Amino acid sequence: MVYSYSQINQYLSCPRSYRQRYIEGWREKDTRANLVFGRAFETALAAYFRGEDCGQRLHDEWAQFRGSELEYGRGDTWDIVLTQGVQLLERFCQDSRVHIANPESQLQLRIRRQLSPGKEFVSYLDAIGELDGISSIIEWKTTSARYSEEPLGLLALDPQLLCYSWMTGVAEVAMVVFVRKRFPEIQYLKTTISNQQREQYGHLVDDTITQIESGRFLPHSGIRFPNNGCTTCPFIGLCLCKEELVAASLIQTRGNELDWIDQLDC
Ligand code: SF4
Repeated sequence: MVYSYSQINQYLSCPRSYRQRYIEGWREKDTRANLVFGRAFETALAAYFRGEDCGQRLHDEWAQFRGSELEYGRGDTWDIVLTQGVQLLERFCQDSRVHIANPESQLQLRIRRQLSPGKEFVSYLDAIGELDGISSIIEWKTTSARYSEEPLGLLALDPQLLCYSWMTGVAEVAMVVFVRKRFPEIQYLKTTISNQQREQYGHLVDDTITQIESGRFLPHSGIRFPNNGCTTCPFIGLCLCKEELVAASLIQTRGNELDWIDQLDC
């Protein structure tokens, strides 16, 4: 069995959504413009580190979806998103704060960790490189709103960075957040994960896998009304037995054979 950060995170968000996604094979349709653009943007970033024309690469990748029926955020269009992306790439090049010495081996790294015989944990890291001269795990994020930086130290609680630090033993972790807005902005967020945090994350993984393998999939979004997490959960149509909601947002795939692939969605 192969586990991943996405699986652990999904189970902790709501065990029923884990069952729907990883056991029954339901997946969200790839119609969210933000998600599709994020993948195109990461391809352009890789081109930048290889010394290629990253603006052209972004255009080419994004052009594949020009006529597609994507769901855009308020005020966004295909052209606006592309313009913002190109501006962000230009800013990133000017800042020159991130360096990847060997793009072939330091981008999109697949890391494996054996948990026990027949059970392993897999992670895909966006990059291991230098941010402001410090060697770090680096995650790229594209978003339409700034990430919160308050209170100080918040980033050290980010479960994805904790997971990647636990997987690699690397303490220095960072997120480079590309904020698409009227005046595009890049946030360079960095923190240090302690040994104790890595150890605790390992226990969290063990506990969660024990619950998964015990077949405990009771529904709970973990958030109280009126901020009910069910309202933004892609599986709500299944829980409410609303076929029209299921058809609008989900497709059913092969189940848990491709579990680790949705690491690329994050
Ligand atoms: S709709 Fe609510 S209960 Fe159902 S899977 Fe999603 S979060 Fe869980």
